[in-house]
Amino acid sequence: MKIYKSSKELSKDIELLKSSGKTLGFVPTMGALHKGHLSLVKQAKQECDFVLVSIFVNPTQFNNPKDLEKYPRTLDIDLEKLRQADVEMVFTPDVKEIYPDDKAAKVEFDFGETDKVMEGKFRPGHFNGVAMVVKRLFEIAKPTKAYFGQKDIQQIAIINILNNKYLQDLNIEIVQCPIVREDDGLAMSSRNKLLTAEQRKKSVVISQALFEAKEKYNDYKVSEIEEEVKKSITSKTNFEVEYFEIVNAENLQKINAWNEADRILACIAVNVSDNLRLIDNIFLKG
Ligand code: AMP
Repeated sequence: MKIYKSSKELSKDIELLKSSGKTLGFVPTMGALHKGHLSLVKQAKQECDFVLVSIFVNPTQFNNPKDLEKYPRTLDIDLEKLRQADVEMVFTPDVKEIYPDDKAAKVEFDFGETDKVMEGKFRPGHFNGVAMVVKRLFEIAKPTKAYFGQKDIQQIAIINILNNKYLQDLNIEIVQCPIVREDDGLAMSSRNKLLTAEQRKKSVVISQALFEAKEKYNDYKVSEIEEEVKKSITSKTNFEVEYFEIVNAENLQKINAWNEADRILACIAVNVSDNLRLIDNIFLKG
């Protein structure tokens, strides 16, 4: 496994590989790796000749400085996990390598309505920061396929727009991978490491509420399911439900009736404490 800090060196080696006809699978991450990340790696290994994983805690996508400060960093353990997973290349750039100057750190994208709702609404600037880092990483690595988790479903929608609208020439295929959950249902997340034992125990209510919504959605109105889910979480914990939205999976816009879309998602964000926020989602239909 080769570890790169320099984008030039990485690009050079990748060009060499690709010129000999090899395909490259790319898994961008912010580290503190768990089985969710490793499932993306596994799929990339199955579908591509070489796999590159990046580990970079991207400052431009954090709208809350406390969240950035507290974000778990476990580089040595991460590298060991990637070694065990037979990953060929790891990119661990520092901030200057990704954002060498002010211009690189100030790019504005237009994602239409897709970044105006849910995460985009509650985390101003978040998706612009995500797009900045993904654009930069895609331009450095020029992968054949890039792998992302359904856990961050709105992020995938944004990256699909980025890829089709701004990076067409790179010809990258975006692959969406399923959510990996803990045994009790909690969606795996690097931020789960920051939960206290009590918060961890209670956090199961988030996925449980989504599973219940899936089970009984057809028997209730959209608005009733929304009410039920919020009530179910706030009655059992002191967590704050920042949003729970039932949306058309094609454009992530809210729906008011079940027949308004063929594929329907329920998406949730919960503030467990002031600086700890968890997200999850589930397909109700399609
Ligand atoms: P992050 O390190 O949180 O930026 O995540 C890196 C990638 O792993 C993103 O594409 C995430 O959607 C994906 N990911 C995070 N958690 C999970 C999970 N529980 N299951 C599947 N993919 C995940």
